[in-house]
Amino acid sequence: MAGELILIIEDNEKNRKLVRDILHVTGYQTLETETAEEGFNLALEKSPALILMDIQLPGMDGITALKQLRADPITKTIPVIAITASAMTYNRQAMLAEGFDGYQNKPISVKNFLQEVRRVLAIHQDKGKVS
Ligand code: MN
Repeated sequence: MAGELILIIEDNEKNRKLVRDILHVTGYQTLETETAEEGFNLALEKSPALILMDIQLPGMDGITALKQLRADPITKTIPVIAITASAMTYNRQAMLAEGFDGYQNKPISVKNFLQEVRRVLAIHQDKGKVS
């Protein structure tokens, strides 16, 4: 399936533009916001197929935002990929233990990033078929 809507929650404009450009070139649609608070509202309104969640955000952080998404029946099944700065102590294992569906660190590698997006979208679509 192509053209899925992906919500980008990222406060850094350069990172947001990079992710948006990669996704658009690949055929995905995007929505974006700089805060987790607005991201949650957009997730409720637009039901994106996937959320890319920066962890360090100006208000609510990405881990708290994930818990809020998981606590709401409307947003709890939306897959979420954590995007962390490489200088931070978080690694893939820690992020998956928090409940994220995927993980990428910054700076993003285009190839790895797209592989992770496709992997997480595919898992979610398979789940949908089974149930
Ligand atoms: Mn940030």
